[in-house]
This record gives sequence, structure tokens and C-alpha cells, in this order.
Amino acid sequence: MELKKVAFFDTKPYDKESFERLNSGRYDIRYFETRLTAAALPLADGCDAACAFVNAEIDRAVVEGLVARGVKVLAMRCAGYNNVDFKAAYEAGLTVVRVPAYSPYAVAEHAAALLLSLNRHIHKAAARTRDFNFSLAGLTGFDLHGKTAGVVGTGKIGRIFADICRGFGMKVLAYDAFPNPTTGLEYVTLDRLLAESDIVSLHCPLLPETKHLINADTFAKAKRGFTLINTSRGGLVDSEALLSALRDGTVGAAGLDVYEEESEWFYEDRSDVTRQNKTLSLLVSLPNVIVTSHQAFLTHEALANIATTTLKNLDDYFAGAPLENEICYRCLGSGGAKKTDCPRRANGRCHSVT
Ligand code: NAD
Repeated sequence: MELKKVAFFDTKPYDKESFERLNSGRYDIRYFETRLTAAALPLADGCDAACAFVNAEIDRAVVEGLVARGVKVLAMRCAGYNNVDFKAAYEAGLTVVRVPAYSPYAVAEHAAALLLSLNRHIHKAAARTRDFNFSLAGLTGFDLHGKTAGVVGTGKIGRIFADICRGFGMKVLAYDAFPNPTTGLEYVTLDRLLAESDIVSLHCPLLPETKHLINADTFAKAKRGFTLINTSRGGLVDSEALLSALRDGTVGAAGLDVYEEESEWFYEDRSDVTRQNKTLSLLVSLPNVIVTSHQAFLTHEALANIATTTLKNLDDYFAGAPLENEICYRCLGSGGAKKTDCPRRANGRCHSVT
């Protein structure tokens, strides 16, 4: 039987390595370095599936272009799906699957790494000692023990980050639009969390209602000098307001793995580009800011899980089996909660195999 063809976009060497190790001849995977855009659509000609990553803008033109070229299923090899036009996918009959969790530990641990690096000035110390400068001036941090961490979004990643904080002897306050009573966390309002937390770490999805959740008004309510950690989505934070808050001391330090306009910059070497993004340039130049390029997921364990789940999603799709990881426009409720009013839902999936 002829193998199903998969157009695999935005390929990095580590993607190819993990998928080749686990594919073992199941699919004819065509690896392309380019991101999935309207201009890249001809690469998907005659393919049964397309596979894309987090920063691809899957708008209506891309959705309809994929379907016109014979693609039946779009396998997002990531958890977040704010860049996909699901309404267009639903209308065009393109099934979309994703990897809801590949390693919440990887992301929570990266958030902790940003926090520790900022607080103990590891980034500055490492640069100094390389120059044989062993001075400690300006490197004073604070004990995490006894401080308060505010966790915004208490899903898989937020709960692990809360556990890490508790391991350091910190008090944890939580805010979530859908508080989960089984977590044992102390839920408070966002205003109270901001007012009392020495560290605020964001772990909720980017949705219309969470866009710029952290903005000039919320900074005004926050504890002065707090550390902001964002490993979730750049759009949760108003970057201009963050710059002002860092400059006037409202925010003491910021660890950012995501940035609201990251898609043009992150994952690539852009050091040769002369036209820089002004806000990003200012953020990276501040000594109390660490920016990493959306790398919180990047562990060996997470890459193996991404490949395993993506291939299983494709196996299930082509076998006509229930699709545990399908994202359907009609089934999505607020905050990503599943509703069950999709008229197309049958046999555990919302689009039939065509
Ligand atoms: P999850 O779905 O398990 O948890 C999300 C939590 O946010 C849920 O508890 C939900 O109730 C809550 N929430 C929803 N709407 C909210 C609102 N309006 N206000 C406050 N809380 C709200 O997701 P997760 O696996 O823990 O991932 C969290 C986020 O991390 C993802 O949305 C994604 O954007 C980000 N992420 C980043 C990376 C990275 O590499 N930096 C990797 C994976 C995920």
C-alpha cells in the first residue's frame, strides 16, 4: 500500500531527528525548512497531511489552500493553537489535531530557570567570569524561601510550577478563570495575586479575553519590584507597558520565553537583520531582562513525546479512529473547555474520513 504523504513544515534538525527515529517507515514525510504560509502551499501538493509548528499563521487562505491541494488533516506539533483559524478549518472540512501535552515539566522547569537566573544574576555572572572579572558587585539576589509566587493559570504547567515554588519554601497564590478545587491551591482574584506576589508566572492560554492580561493597569496594582515570568504566550503581556514598568521599577525583572511579535524573529538567527524590532531590542538590552526564544519546550523528552503523539494522531485519523486530540471549532468552549454540541461529532471525531 502506498504510504500517506506528510508535508512537514518549519523543520529544524531536532524535529527531523526525533520524527525519523519514531516514524520507522509509517509515513512518507517530506521535510521542508520553510514555515507553512500561503506562498509555501505548493509544497503540500498531493500530500494527505500537513504538519506545522506553533508560530505558523494558519489563516483562511492557508486552510483553503491545503484542502485544495488534497490535504485532509493538519497535525500541529504543539499545544497552543491561537494562530490557527479553526472556523475556516471547520468550514473547509480540514481536521486539526495537536499535541496537548508533551512535557509540562520542560516548560515549568524553564520558568524556574528564568526565575533563578534573574534573581541570582547568573547571566551577568557567567559573562563576567569569562572576562576574568570575579567581582560580586551588583549580583545580590534574594532568598526565594518565604516569598510569594503568583501562578496565573493552573493547568498542567502552572501546577508543576506551583509545586517547584513550594519546593523552594515559597507561598503560592493562584488565579484561574476555572479554579480547580482538586489542586489544593489557594485561589485569589488576579488583583490580590498581583498585589501580594513577589513573582508572577503566566501559564494560561492566549485567548481574546487574555490578550494583554498584564498591562499598564495591572502593573499599577502589582507589588513594586516583582519578577514577571512569561513562558506562556507573548500576547498575554503588553510589551510597551512592560518596558515602562521595568524602567520605573514597577517590575524588578522579567524572564520572557515568549514575545507578542515573536513570529518574525524567534527560532531563527536574525543577527544579520538591520531593521530590528524596537521594543524587543530595548527589552533584550535591559540587564534585568532575560529573553529566550520560545525554547521552554525544548527537552529530549518533549521532542520524543511530540513525535509520538503527532504520529499517533495521524494513525488515528487515517484509521478512522476517535481523535482524542482533535481541535474542533464547534467543540471549543471558553478557555479551551470541551462542549459537545458539534453536529458533526460521531465516533469520537468531528470530521469524517474523506
Ligand atoms: P492547560 O490547558 O493545562 O492549562 C491552562 C490553564 O489556564 C487552565 O487551568 C485554564 O483554566 C486556565 N485559563 C483559561 N482561561 C483563563 C483565563 N482567562 N484566565 C486565567 N486562566 C485561564 O495548559 P498548559 O499545558 O498548562 O499550558 C499553558 C500554556 O503554556 C499554553 O496555553 C501555552 O500557551 C503555553 N506553552 C508554552 C510552551 C513554551 O515552549 N514556551 C510550551 C507549551 C505550552
